[in-house]
Amino acid sequence: MIVLKFGGTSVGTPQGMNQIREIITKDNNKKLVVLSALSGVTNTLVEIGERLRKKEKEQATKVIKKLQKRYDEFLEELFETESFKNKASAIIADSMDFIKSCLEKPFTNSIDKELLAQGELMSTNIFNLHLQEHELNSALINALDFVRTDAFSEPDDAFINKELSDILVKQPAETNLIITQGYICRNAEGNVDNLKRGGSDYTASLVGAALNADEIQIWTDIDGMHNNDPRVVEKTFSIPELSFEEAAELAYFGAKILHPSCIRPAQKRTIPVRLKNTMKPEAPGTLIHTKEGSGEGIKAIAAKDGIVAIKIKSLRMLMAYGFLRRVFEIFEKYKTPIDVITTSEVAISVTIDNIYYLDSILSELRPFGEVEVDQEQSIICLVGNMVAEKPGLVSKIFASLQDVPVRMISYGGSRHNISVVVDTQYKSEALKRLNDGVF
Ligand code: ASP
Ligand code: MG
Repeated sequence: MIVLKFGGTSVGTPQGMNQIREIITKDNNKKLVVLSALSGVTNTLVEIGERLRKKEKEQATKVIKKLQKRYDEFLEELFETESFKNKASAIIADSMDFIKSCLEKPFTNSIDKELLAQGELMSTNIFNLHLQEHELNSALINALDFVRTDAFSEPDDAFINKELSDILVKQPAETNLIITQGYICRNAEGNVDNLKRGGSDYTASLVGAALNADEIQIWTDIDGMHNNDPRVVEKTFSIPELSFEEAAELAYFGAKILHPSCIRPAQKRTIPVRLKNTMKPEAPGTLIHTKEGSGEGIKAIAAKDGIVAIKIKSLRMLMAYGFLRRVFEIFEKYKTPIDVITTSEVAISVTIDNIYYLDSILSELRPFGEVEVDQEQSIICLVGNMVAEKPGLVSKIFASLQDVPVRMISYGGSRHNISVVVDTQYKSEALKRLNDGVF
């Protein structure tokens, strides 16, 4: 079994849906197809929710009308027969009725989650009917029946395994295309919830792992993971192969193509993840597999904005033990992950991207010594297979960045990553210079 996930831009147009149908019918192998909402729809649902929360009923109504129009036009163009168009309209009407009913009742968090789920519920219904109009053997299964998170908001793997296989054995043998929703799930209380924005990739990886799939394919609008940020640097290219660690670092540090959580379930069961372009299916894309990175040197660069760097300077750190533990305990207390760390004998710098508890963290750090905070920083992450002894690599990086003020450099933590922290105003410059210097 192969799991294929198609993102919002892939399902977002009738041509896109036709294209997906062609991709998944190239052969008759059994496939589980995970879909996002049509591009922009989740954003629209978020907006409707925000309007409702602020009791801006009139604006919410306007947005809902626009959404209805988008679906009307979509169905008109996608379906060839009146009967399938009518079936699809009836299903969209159910979702739209639910969305409209939110105007009339107090807006709670749980209604918000149900509202957000409508995007994937609608896209999968439309696509399944599209397949049936083409007389294909497909079935739609509801992710709300088998994707569940536990009390810590982590996926409940055992539940997913059991429920999904129970559902699949009940499908007729000739049904080789199973369609389901990405992103949506139930929480530990059994209420509708989601796996956070961009979570459809995560769904694909979770169900891929549950089924011990042969491969998990993530289909988007770009031909794989690129060696640098295509929005900043010209002539980037797609990387043919990455290890799970390399891909996880890149996804976490800003490569927008993949949800960072998506790697772990696949890695745990060593299921290859292939990134492909829906509009260019012949392009090889990126294959994420091997445990160890292959090849040598730097393969890719990604950057993540919105970083805060904190420096704690204290003579008490000199030759003291237990100092770092006490510093880290403060971050632990406020459930704030640290990304990059650099230390000297009398100072430590760390970066965080969750600033929710920043003030509390700072006030607890101040008794340790002098605390400096730099906002609006970016982490530039260089990923690859860095053989530590290989001379020249570090000097190449330093030489590339010689005119860029660098706040932190972290090297040697792993063989796969070098992280550089710069003020965000220098990020584009740094990405371009590194691109010229290291590739
Ligand atoms: N539709 C959801 C979002 O836009 C999930 C996804 O597309 O992965 O965040
Ligand atoms: Mg996505």
